[in-house]
Amino acid sequence: MNFEADHRDNPEYFTPIYQMALTQFNQAVKLLQLPEDCAEWIISPDRCMMVSLPIRMDDGKLRTFYGYRVQHNSALGPGKGGLRYHPSVTLGEVTALATWMTWKGGLMNIPLGGAKGGIRCNPKEMSKNELENLTRRYTAAIFPIIGPGKDVPAPDVGTDSQTMAWIMDTYSMQTGFHTMGVVTGKPEIMGGSLGRMEATGLGVAHTIAHAAKKINLPLEGATVVVQGFGNVGYYTAKFLQGMGAKIIAVSNSLGGVHNKNGIPIDPLHQHAQEDRQLDNFPDTEKITNAKLLSLKCDILVLAALENQVTEKNASKVNCKIYAEGANGPTSLEADKILEEKDIFLIPDILCNSGGVVVSYFEWVQGMQSFFWETDDIYKRMEKIMNNAFEETYTLSQQEKVGMRTAGLMIGIKRVADAMMVRGLYP
Ligand code: NAD
Repeated sequence: MNFEADHRDNPEYFTPIYQMALTQFNQAVKLLQLPEDCAEWIISPDRCMMVSLPIRMDDGKLRTFYGYRVQHNSALGPGKGGLRYHPSVTLGEVTALATWMTWKGGLMNIPLGGAKGGIRCNPKEMSKNELENLTRRYTAAIFPIIGPGKDVPAPDVGTDSQTMAWIMDTYSMQTGFHTMGVVTGKPEIMGGSLGRMEATGLGVAHTIAHAAKKINLPLEGATVVVQGFGNVGYYTAKFLQGMGAKIIAVSNSLGGVHNKNGIPIDPLHQHAQEDRQLDNFPDTEKITNAKLLSLKCDILVLAALENQVTEKNASKVNCKIYAEGANGPTSLEADKILEEKDIFLIPDILCNSGGVVVSYFEWVQGMQSFFWETDDIYKRMEKIMNNAFEETYTLSQQEKVGMRTAGLMIGIKRVADAMMVRGLYP
């Protein structure tokens, strides 16, 4: 494909994770039999913005950070996607994540396109004041390309509802009017939707419950291992525990804890708030992240970062349901190894889409200035995700392809149909 050839020598773009997003696309597109020129049009990002962000640090020194906003595709609606603060953020990573957001919107059948943003920084080493300055400067820099009808950021790794509040305020100061719909994942007092905070984890738990029915696995007493204990990992573990499952191991970037009889999730979360180190939690044994991924369990939840299961450790994965709460946690080589095993894989674009679905609800509520009850939100989210799950499962059976390829085929096809019917401008 020309797009690939044209950019292959651009190291900022062509990171392994972006390569992975392209290869996944190429595999799905081959089965959809889309003409090559259309495929190139669909995969090419609409717009990539790179900005430099000078800010004054607390010690009085000036420091310049680099930020990105990539709008991959807006055929179905305005761009939608998180904003990540992490030291490894690159244009390639942000573009891969924006691309997956496009297929996710298509698969969920919601009127939103795909986008993503990021700033290369280490938020753990920055003060609240420095993070506020960085966020406001970034918002000013990307101001021309965001807005309720253009592109709507949300939290991702390293950002939260406070970050969204700063973006909403900076944007509103520049437009001169209160603009709730410019971001989602805001604090409730500023028009944040009920249910948004826990939406991704709740959605992960729903898809796991759905998969468990398909393989006749009772959730009551099912053993669960969770990698990553941030927003997604915590809420997934909490909801699964509420459904009767037993969480036997949990980790974060500093290491993990294990107890074959189960770990109480809310006390562990409380402990993690006070001391990021999990491994001194009572009645548990310390476990490394490497060991955790090979623990025998019924359900393995990946809820940290991309590229965690690779050709080096995929053969050791020992679960019945493999749930991608994180985006891109499984390398292409690992995908092939997992396919050989008797594992039900729930791909990221299906598994973690509860966040974008409730973000869609928040965007709608913001534009109407009319807010819904939590029960309504949960019910509507479950309906959208169940439909997407069934559609993906049915296609995977019909076409004899994995759940990932089936989900991608549905998402890409919906975007392609919208692009064809809209046609070319000019
Ligand atoms: P977060 O920053 O709240 O949590 C990330 C967690 O992963 C932290 O506990 C961190 O310590 C841990 N972690 C990092 N590296 C690790 C490693 N090597 N081993 C074990 N743990 C590690 O982020 P989040 O919002 O929970 O997002 C997690 C993943 O889910 C990301 O891939 C993100 O893109 C994806 N996602 C998030 C949302 C959302 O609504 N927050 C929606 C869809 C997808």
